[in-house]
Amino acid sequence: MRVEYFGGTEPELAVVGGIHGDEPCGINAIEQLLEDPPTFERPVVFVIANEEAIAAEHRYVEEDLNRAFPGDEAGPTHEKRLAADLQSTLGDCLTLSMHSTQSYDGTFALVNELTEQLHGPLGQLPVDAVVDVGSHSKGRLFDAIPTTIEVECGYQGSAQATRNAKRLLQSFLEATGAVAPTATEDDSQLEELPVFRLDRQIPKSEAATYDVFVSNFEQVAKGERFAAADGVDVVAEESFYPVLLSAYGYETVFGYTAEYLGKIGELDARSEVA
Ligand SMILES: [Zn+2]
Repeated sequence: MRVEYFGGTEPELAVVGGIHGDEPCGINAIEQLLEDPPTFERPVVFVIANEEAIAAEHRYVEEDLNRAFPGDEAGPTHEKRLAADLQSTLGDCLTLSMHSTQSYDGTFALVNELTEQLHGPLGQLPVDAVVDVGSHSKGRLFDAIPTTIEVECGYQGSAQATRNAKRLLQSFLEATGAVAPTATEDDSQLEELPVFRLDRQIPKSEAATYDVFVSNFEQVAKGERFAAADGVDVVAEESFYPVLLSAYGYETVFGYTAEYLGKIGELDARSEVA
């Protein structure tokens, strides 16, 4: 794990790339920023998480790091031990963790719970949507660090994902006051940002080929054919919004159904104290 502190070793903010070794966008964004670091006005820690998986260009070495939280420093796998290490490095920092997918070429943010503290930064990030992971937080970084915003930056390995990661990183640092704002463009899309909550996983039967016929975040009607396994249609039992839906992104599921909660400006943020 590579860790670089700016403004002291007691950071308030954290930026994480490389939780998954085959998702270079966040690593590229961090490395390019730190080639010529800006002046930081708040203490920030930057972390390149799973260096062993990155070197192997694999998602993980022994188990998925983003399913290994809370970690264990004497744990049985590389990722269990790394999760403990990462957790103690991040403490209670407001954390940006950058990822990429096989399901969506745009950007979106994932949170465990839409607290007051996350509302402000989320409204300043160049994302298409916010996804509350609902009951699907188990083992993820959110489990250890609830003040985490995960961002999906685009298609895994694409140049666009790296460009998006750089924009997201810059926006996060500006929104949190870590660096002076440079942008003259629109400051906040807070009112307009749509918020979804994950509902259930969409199982995928064993097959040689898979297809997906619908777009993420666009409503699928009851009875609509939205995917296929070996040419056999999968039909929606109820209407839903697909999130992280892809033909080959996961081994046993196509992705998730989600419900649309509304625009972020219309939702009451849940108080952190409550
Ligand atoms: Zn990832």
